[in-house]
Amino acid sequence: DQRKIARALLSVSDKTGLVDLARGLAERGVQLVSTGGTARALKEAGLEVQDVSDLTGFPEMMDGRLKTLHPKVHGGLLAKRDDADHAAAMQSHDIPAIDLLAVNLYPFVKTVEGGADYDTAVENIDIGGPAMIRAAAKNHDGVAVVVEPGDYARLLTALDENDGATPLSLRKELAAKAYAHTAAYDAAISRWFAEQIGDDTPQTRTFSGQLSSALRYGENPHQDAAFYKTGEKRFGVASAELVQGKALSYNNLNDTDAAYELVAEFDPEKAAAIAIIKHANPCGVAQAATLHEAYEKALACDSVSAFGGIVAANRPLDADAAEEIVKIFTEVIIAPDASDEAKEIISQKKNLRLLLAGGLPDPGEAGLTFRSLAGGFLVQGRDNRTLDPSNLKVVTKAQPSEVQLADMIFAFTVAKHVKSNAIVYAKDGATVGIGAGQMSRVDSTRVAFRKGQAAAEALGLKEGLTEGAVVASDAFFPFADGIEVLAEAGATAVIQPGGSMRDDEVIKAADRLGLAMVFTGLRHFRH
Ligand code: 5GP
Repeated sequence: DQRKIARALLSVSDKTGLVDLARGLAERGVQLVSTGGTARALKEAGLEVQDVSDLTGFPEMMDGRLKTLHPKVHGGLLAKRDDADHAAAMQSHDIPAIDLLAVNLYPFVKTVEGGADYDTAVENIDIGGPAMIRAAAKNHDGVAVVVEPGDYARLLTALDENDGATPLSLRKELAAKAYAHTAAYDAAISRWFAEQIGDDTPQTRTFSGQLSSALRYGENPHQDAAFYKTGEKRFGVASAELVQGKALSYNNLNDTDAAYELVAEFDPEKAAAIAIIKHANPCGVAQAATLHEAYEKALACDSVSAFGGIVAANRPLDADAAEEIVKIFTEVIIAPDASDEAKEIISQKKNLRLLLAGGLPDPGEAGLTFRSLAGGFLVQGRDNRTLDPSNLKVVTKAQPSEVQLADMIFAFTVAKHVKSNAIVYAKDGATVGIGAGQMSRVDSTRVAFRKGQAAAEALGLKEGLTEGAVVASDAFFPFADGIEVLAEAGATAVIQPGGSMRDDEVIKAADRLGLAMVFTGLRHFRH
């Protein structure tokens, strides 16, 4: 199953590593054939190369749409090496065997990401490249195909170890990669088309991602993992620059995303905001005049859980805030930007990762989210609804004050980013008790209350943090029991979607306990 390489066809848009590969092949006695731009680059490097138009006897034409689409190329790639009929066909039609194909495709994704117009995008749909890749990969029994510059060195090493030949195991591996490459390529084109015709819904579109990095492991050390990018234009973890610290882990990426999507809900023009995340749930969120103050308030909500957390800021990180954040162990900081002074302070903590996203994601933007289940995955539009204050309906005798209303909207916005059942107590623009992920709403209400008490104790306060707070619930209260717990916690006002069969009982309980209650008509389940 060893196949010697006598002739290689190189046709690449991304010329990274090309000359080294070609020189390596030439030194091992391989004859090089190449398309226009690739041949030019090789000749400039002083290498001997045959133009593909010489091999086909046909010029490249139609703006490069026709370069390698010719029986002499595809016959050379597809002919079975041990088949007498195929050999005879090659002989009678003068088709030379091509043993190695190195191709990477027109940069379609980069072109559309760069905001290219329609015609430019269309012209960047590679036709001959995928055809050759698919042909060579089909005929992996005889041909090796390499689509990533990262594999060039491996290929040369394999030739040295196998007396100028490639082993079948390597050719199979490269073939698998090749089909993944063309599949992702076509999926990206299809997605672009769907966007062009305004039909980019979860029900109709195709899904694709580009492998961004292999991760050391997944949620646990025994799970393999990788990070794929969809090419979506959004400020966030996928496009942020890692300014310092080691690569982010699977859990880091997941938590950092949760942190940044949450903090982006708060308009940086109006206030500074900080979110501290653990296990994809916030353990403290606050708004204030400065990031420093917002961080202190967010930390106070649950300083115990914040240890080893992820911190997200909605404004460029300043020195004052950085100084405060580095006081406890933090895994990752993500912000739109950071001052030089802030970077300097953070650089003293070698293991702390700083991610700069270049901007804030728009919480109102459409997009898709994915979740796997056995044998498939679920796709839905991102929860991009934000509360419209004019839709709020006061349902109790007590009317909320302006201050309460502002805190209610803040708490409800945080609750959108807390795993259901989500209960968020807030006061003065800061969370003071968060209950996440409980299977009953009354339990989440109790958990949040208890956390507010524990946080107060940690701060040396006599009164629980939830005293005088407002409360947000991500979905309706099914029974009045939750209302009783939060009144006990000292809460004064509640914001929730409403819509329960027992809304009447719930409203009655609120009236009896002197609470103000507001219905949003909007639910924010998050699982
Ligand atoms: P070069 O820079 O060598 O002129 O072109 C290399 C690119 O052309 C590669 O990305 C390759 O996939 C692509 N390519 C090769 N043959 C064909 C063809 O027949 N038609 C089209 N549209 N692209 C081709």
